[in-house]
Amino acid sequence: MRVGIGTDVHPVEPGRDCWIAGLHWPGLPGCAGHSDGDVAAHALCDAALSAAGLGDLGAVFGTDEQRWVGAHGAELLTEVRRRLAIRGWVVGNGAVQVIGNAPRVGVRRAEAQRALSDALGGPVSVSGTTTDGLGLTGRGEGIAAVAAVLLMRSG
Ligand code: MG
Repeated sequence: MRVGIGTDVHPVEPGRDCWIAGLHWPGLPGCAGHSDGDVAAHALCDAALSAAGLGDLGAVFGTDEQRWVGAHGAELLTEVRRRLAIRGWVVGNGAVQVIGNAPRVGVRRAEAQRALSDALGGPVSVSGTTTDGLGLTGRGEGIAAVAAVLLMRSG
């Protein structure tokens, strides 16, 4: 078994669609970024790559690659899962915590867990927290996420 960690932060950009934890959140401002700005999915990707010793999101999904412009978090997770499988890894489980004022992921936890678990190919738990008004997440300037993924040998 191998464990890995991941973190992501994106700035909130008014007028942009909000995609967090594999879900669309109508009416909320989303995150700016090369892809859909889904910090939860990105942190999970990084955690999975970290566990497998495959580097990080920037190395796998270069910002100069047109293929990933506007890509949804689920697509990135699916690609990470494919790369893990080639190297003989399966996901034991993943956990991700979203840090920010909105969205409140707890109100759609089951849906988010299903979306991320389906994409990563193993059970993912989703939680959320705030920073009590402190820092960039507390001021609503950005949304952050931290994640851990446990991998196991497939055969
Ligand atoms: Mg990101």
